Amino acid sequence: MKNKNIDSLVRGNILGLEPYSTARDEFQGGELCVFLDANESPYQNGVNRYPDPHQKALKARISQIKKTPADTIFLGNGSDEAIDLVFRVFCVPGKDNVVAISPSYGMYSVAANTNDIELRSVALGPDWELPADEILASIDSNTKAIFLCSPNNPSGNAFEPAQMLQLAEKFNGIVVVDEAYIDFSGKESLIGNIQEYNNVIVLQTLSKAWGMAGMRIGMAFACPRIIQLMSMVKYPYNINVLAQQKALELLQKDEPYISEIISQRAVLAGELEQKPFVKKVWPSDANFLLARVADANGLYDFLTQRGIIVRNRHKVKGCENCLRITVGTTEENNRLLQALQDYEKTYNR
Ligand SMILES: *Cc1c(COP(=O)(O)O)cnc(C)c1O
Repeated sequence: MKNKNIDSLVRGNILGLEPYSTARDEFQGGELCVFLDANESPYQNGVNRYPDPHQKALKARISQIKKTPADTIFLGNGSDEAIDLVFRVFCVPGKDNVVAISPSYGMYSVAANTNDIELRSVALGPDWELPADEILASIDSNTKAIFLCSPNNPSGNAFEPAQMLQLAEKFNGIVVVDEAYIDFSGKESLIGNIQEYNNVIVLQTLSKAWGMAGMRIGMAFACPRIIQLMSMVKYPYNINVLAQQKALELLQKDEPYISEIISQRAVLAGELEQKPFVKKVWPSDANFLLARVADANGLYDFLTQRGIIVRNRHKVKGCENCLRITVGTTEENNRLLQALQDYEKTYNR
């Protein structure tokens, strides 16, 4: 069954919640109104008024870009807020659990722990394949959500949409698909499937391809009921005035530099594969590469001493001796390649 009873999955206290009603909820008004309702300062400085709690203008633009109605869009203070809200809306602390793939993004387990929710990890296959059967085998009647990440951080691969949708169909709970890196992938987003599969929440962000990591705007796409629940629980003014304005301005053009990053990714992967100390470079659907090297800690230290910072994933289960390298500008990548050439000399000796 594709259509689930969403309300039956929601925490009882949230279903009965009376959300905070802001002054601007009750009356929007126009330019000519006198606003004496919110105890703001009347003296204009660009930020003296509270932001729109519903982010209407920004959602209208994102609705155009993503070709999905505004009532299927939630905006948060980074995707991290949306991840946290999944727990707060659906998971009863100390009782419910969620399932996540491993290795994957660290915020799922941080949010699970802060909400006192058990997180069950299911390991990906040797080349990071989605273990759909193992995931289904690990759920029980208290499992409220499955967290998938596609393209996955740190492995870089995207899963087959059909495989993720099949999981959503079989699971009577929420399936979160984190698509932070989808713009760098050849695979389709699942945004087009949220009407049919009402238990799927797709996460995207302005932090990666859109180049707005400093702004902290994450997006969740889901059926209107889920969006309504998340909006009810969020802080009313979770996206500030400056971020809403600047995002709207930067969203007037297309995502910048995607083709540059994708072509540089191929160059970098090709160069890395030539190195005798590089054991494996996995194919990537994202703006980073995961490489297994002979000695991740040693290479990490060598690069750091030269002012080149990569992500050492050696301590992550399944990622032993792996470094995750973000694709930079051509100049930045060349600096990395020069340093790797120097490392090779010390390595051969
Ligand atoms: C970078 C990243 C995000 C983005 O988080 P924001 O809070 O929106 O900046 C989300 N998910 C994954 C897997 C990421 O790697």
